[in-house]
Amino acid sequence: MSLASGSNGNCYYIETEGAAVIIDAGIGGRTIKKRLSTAGVDMNGVMAVLVTHDHSDHIKGVGSLSEIFGKPVYSTEGILENMNKNYRMNPKVSPASKRLIRKGEKFLLGDMEITAFPVPHDASDSVGYRIDCDGKSLALVTDAGVITDEIVSMVSDVDYLVIESNYDEVMLENGPYPLVLRNRITSGNGHLSNKQCAEFFCVNELKNLKKVFLCHLSAHNNTADSAFSCVRKGLDVMQERVGHDIDLKVLPRLQPTEMFSLC
Ligand SMILES: [Zn+2]
Ligand SMILES: [Zn+2]
Repeated sequence: MSLASGSNGNCYYIETEGAAVIIDAGIGGRTIKKRLSTAGVDMNGVMAVLVTHDHSDHIKGVGSLSEIFGKPVYSTEGILENMNKNYRMNPKVSPASKRLIRKGEKFLLGDMEITAFPVPHDASDSVGYRIDCDGKSLALVTDAGVITDEIVSMVSDVDYLVIESNYDEVMLENGPYPLVLRNRITSGNGHLSNKQCAEFFCVNELKNLKKVFLCHLSAHNNTADSAFSCVRKGLDVMQERVGHDIDLKVLPRLQPTEMFSLC
């Protein structure tokens, strides 16, 4: 379930039979609790928070989840260290709540086998996550300046993929952002465009892929229709090669989604 997706806050909830985690908490802890509860999920069942990087739209509510709701926070050394320097995250995450993980090293949470992998972005450190459980796998790749070979190898056999489709290149070029910000976004350490996302599907063959969720759409430089139609074209190319249909969904920026059942 996506609880929020975009520069106003990112938060994803993933549940298996034997585990439940939140990836990123860029909205407040109380809002997360409320949105989960509306979907019939009890916050008490959440075992951990995984953090992709230390930008506000991903961590604003992390301290609240750790210190008020008692959830351990899993991330890399760079992210755990620098997260507390972000003035928009309050309270701070206490040392006792921090759980250190290393990129490329699998760890277990209940029946989830989780691996963090590097993603190029202009934060202290930045990772994507792959979760394997019971022969199925899901990966999340957000805030990615480019798709690296390492990302491709981590997601090449996943069943479900949540991937950034941040901006429409023409809208960004003609939009309200100043040049310095436009350059940051397109630098290779910024965000992934609809076109880059579509090209990723055009040139790769993810044989097991069943469903794609587009995340982190820009409020000013993208629309759900533009992201969908651009990425759909890339997916259609890949669909031809893998020989089965691949479903595509655009995650809304502000509203929580339904709970998607992936099996
Ligand atoms: Zn970011
Ligand atoms: Zn972000």
